[in-house]
Amino acid sequence: MTDRAALVGDLVGDRADEWDRTGLLPADVLLKLGENGLLCAQVPVKHGGLGLSSRENGEFTAEVGRLCSSLRSVMTSQGMAAWTIQRLGDRRQRENHLRRLATGTLAAVGFSERHAGSDLSAMETTITADGDEVMVNGHKVWTTAAHYADVIVVFGRYEDGAAAALVPADAPGVTIERIVDPLGCRAAGHANIRLDSVRLPAENVLGGAGAALPLLVTSALAYGRMSVAWGCVGILAACLAAATGHAARREQFGQPLASHQLVAGHLADLYVAEQTARRACEHASRCWDEGSPEMVTAAVLAKHVSATQAAAGAATAVQVLASAGSLDGHVVARAYRDAKLMEIIEGSSELCRLLLAQHAVSRKGERA
Ligand SMILES: Cc1cc2nc3c(=O)[nH]c(=O)nc-3n(C[C@H](O)[C@H](O)[C@H](O)COP(=O)(O)OP(=O)(O)OC[C@H]3O[C@@H](n4cnc5c(N)ncnc54)[C@H](O)[C@@H]3O)c2cc1C
Repeated sequence: MTDRAALVGDLVGDRADEWDRTGLLPADVLLKLGENGLLCAQVPVKHGGLGLSSRENGEFTAEVGRLCSSLRSVMTSQGMAAWTIQRLGDRRQRENHLRRLATGTLAAVGFSERHAGSDLSAMETTITADGDEVMVNGHKVWTTAAHYADVIVVFGRYEDGAAAALVPADAPGVTIERIVDPLGCRAAGHANIRLDSVRLPAENVLGGAGAALPLLVTSALAYGRMSVAWGCVGILAACLAAATGHAARREQFGQPLASHQLVAGHLADLYVAEQTARRACEHASRCWDEGSPEMVTAAVLAKHVSATQAAAGAATAVQVLASAGSLDGHVVARAYRDAKLMEIIEGSSELCRLLLAQHAVSRKGERA
């Protein structure tokens, strides 16, 4: 076990259920992980980060996902914010802001709005230049980690295109309202954000301002997809361990559940799900680490495979444990709620399938 996995293991211990019930992650846990660079461990060393490869960060993300999907969700947001600054920020923005995120300043990323969910082109938030300042107006919804965040990367319309601005959570005009009863990942600090005439220095707008929205959001989403995908590997690992352990221990009809062929079939399905998701993530991380042009599609594929396998796998685990896993607080019950959300975020399963179909069609000539 790596030192970072041991540290997160000690910090989480058996408290994930308590955090899920209270809907809050303890500040000291976020502080400790943040100070150690573990909330966005892929940030390069020259910007104050740990400089992990995508594969190393992915394995760590899976470990956190195995323990607590709420904490993993906060890590995903932090990593997405950091990756956005790394990709879009100029030298000074990277030096100032990336270093702060790598050492514990907490961040969230706001794309979605009431009328702009799957279709981000319907975004209404505006970022308007005004001398050496900009003004931000809009309303973001379901922003993961916003309840904890010190800074929010807000995407909005800018001139003829779009831009991303770094909005301090305590800036005048920012109101953050926590969503208190989400289906799963209940301690991930989801919140809706109102931005009423928020004035910021123009230097808070990241590079690329005025470019087309898809160009700006693609990087952030690619990181988010990788992170969610690896988190789902962790959910599946937790479900597999719980289901195999229970099926080996509990006897019905005079023999362990695992000896009943239909139950054994469930265990095989779970094992296949965990391995399939892991292999898809490994492939995507390899593409990422090699800077392969396949990276964007590999991230969509990994996210789609892992999220659908996690949602199905968590349901299978509840089936194997039956009444024992049907209590709020059991690891498989939590996984069942958390995993379902993974099919909605960072590109729903439907949107991922559309992207994968477009990719397949665009490559038809190569196979002919
Ligand atoms: C737990 C959670 C965390 C989130 N975290 C964040 C965050 O950190 N930042 C952020 O900006 N947003 C976040 N979101 C918002 C999330 O990105 C959106 O929920 C998601 O994009 C889907 O949008 P929607 O909910 O408005 O659904 P809709 O867009 O209304 O879609 C409803 C259904 O229709 C399907 N659909 C829509 N269009 C099509 C189409 N063209 N073809 C086929 N099917 C289609 C969708 O796949 C979905 O099944 C989060 C949401 C949740 C639930």
